Amino acid sequence: MTDEYGFDTLAVRAGQVRTNEGEHSEAIFTTSSYVFDSAAQAAARFAGEEPGNIYSRFTNPTVRTFQDRLAALEGAESCVATSSGMAAILSTCMGLLKSGDHIVSSRSIFGSTVVLFNKYLAPFGVETSYVSQTDLSDWEKAIKPNTRLLFVETPSNPLTDVADIRALADLAHRKNCLLVVDNCFLTPALQKPLELGADIVVHSGTKYIDGQGRCVGGAVVGNKDLVGEQVFGFLRTAGPSLSPFNAWVHLKGLETLSLRMKAHSSNALELATWLEAQPKVERVYYPGLASHPQHALAKQQQSGFGGVLAFDLKGGKQAAWNVVDNTKLISITANLGDAKSTITHPATTTHGRLTPEQRADAGIGDGLLRIAVGLEDINDIKADLSRGL
Ligand SMILES: *Cc1c(COP(=O)(O)O)cnc(C)c1O
Repeated sequence: MTDEYGFDTLAVRAGQVRTNEGEHSEAIFTTSSYVFDSAAQAAARFAGEEPGNIYSRFTNPTVRTFQDRLAALEGAESCVATSSGMAAILSTCMGLLKSGDHIVSSRSIFGSTVVLFNKYLAPFGVETSYVSQTDLSDWEKAIKPNTRLLFVETPSNPLTDVADIRALADLAHRKNCLLVVDNCFLTPALQKPLELGADIVVHSGTKYIDGQGRCVGGAVVGNKDLVGEQVFGFLRTAGPSLSPFNAWVHLKGLETLSLRMKAHSSNALELATWLEAQPKVERVYYPGLASHPQHALAKQQQSGFGGVLAFDLKGGKQAAWNVVDNTKLISITANLGDAKSTITHPATTTHGRLTPEQRADAGIGDGLLRIAVGLEDINDIKADLSRGL
């Protein structure tokens, strides 16, 4: 099917296996285990001699449909669904790394990923070095003989710095490493890291794949060996598996992903352009703006600019909080990837535990706000921000 049909067709239809009931929409298989026709079949299944379901920690038809559909959209051989985005990153590390291995990661990644690397992987002998999101020579210098993974998330949160996926993939392969890309912000509707040379894509399905803020879930996407065998081997043993219900919600989310990502992007571009013209706004961070330092790269490796933008206000924290507190429509929450627009003040929330110096290094000023632009009427979003501006 993958060779035959375009992205939007795959998003709606890939992976569905209709049962004898003739259901049109995909069914939810809420079963923890499966029955066998005979003792011999049970033995063959357990021995891995016959394909088929055994237990839902390993496989489940609804989860498989979600996996097959997301694999088709990312252009991958394999996908393993996980109970959350963090479980996807953990499963990738546990499936592919061993004690003594080294990770080189962008400094501008999701906060919990940093905690996972530093607090939970480090004591097991997996060390991580952090480098600039955009300076390739910084990455090259940090690579050691035991480096196994390069890890990046692009565009970054909240400043939307864009990393060059193809250049990082080339570097990784020259050094015998694997490139892992967290594709949560753009999804395969707007960016396909595997086509640019990345080895593995991880997702928090919780964000745009769900798209309406309902269920937590995640996925790891890549080739048969790395993902289908190694990451899956960890998942089926350790158990951070996705529930069939959450898989179904995310599967249905994929059907409208492309439409939603286009609408998020067009709302965000209009808002970013409008914000740039506001006298109280110092600077706007959005890869779709000509003023963005990696605008050309973003145009090349992305087919849209996504729904997340940030902006600095003149007047620091006071001015930023004033904008937040004068909203009536936009939700004050650090979540993103929802039909509902959200606003957050990174310096006192997502990045609040960093020291002022660390925040300054990361470019997170006291006047910075991040908006994940939703699907409401753009004029209502502008009006909601106008009061505080
Ligand atoms: C939210 C998020 C995660 C973690 O996903 P969960 O589903 O919350 O576990 C990882 N990476 C990025 C970029 C995220 O935004």
